[in-house]
Amino acid sequence: MNIPVVDQELCIGCGVCVELCPEVFEISDDKSWVTGPDKCGTCDCDEAAASCPVAAIELIEEQ
Ligand code: SF4
Repeated sequence: MNIPVVDQELCIGCGVCVELCPEVFEISDDKSWVTGPDKCGTCDCDEAAASCPVAAIELIEEQ
């Protein structure tokens, strides 16, 4: 299972990750926050990480 982490310095608040994974990410103060890291297994966070225009989403592998 992967846990997504957003680099707040890089995030431009475009909302792409929220559109792809609304259960995992939330926009607040023009930044994306991981509000449901454990929901990652139910959707494709690989796609969110790959779709982020500034590569701000890192996926940490959790055993
Ligand atoms: S897709 Fe990337 S830049 Fe856009 S809101 Fe999500 S983390 Fe931020």
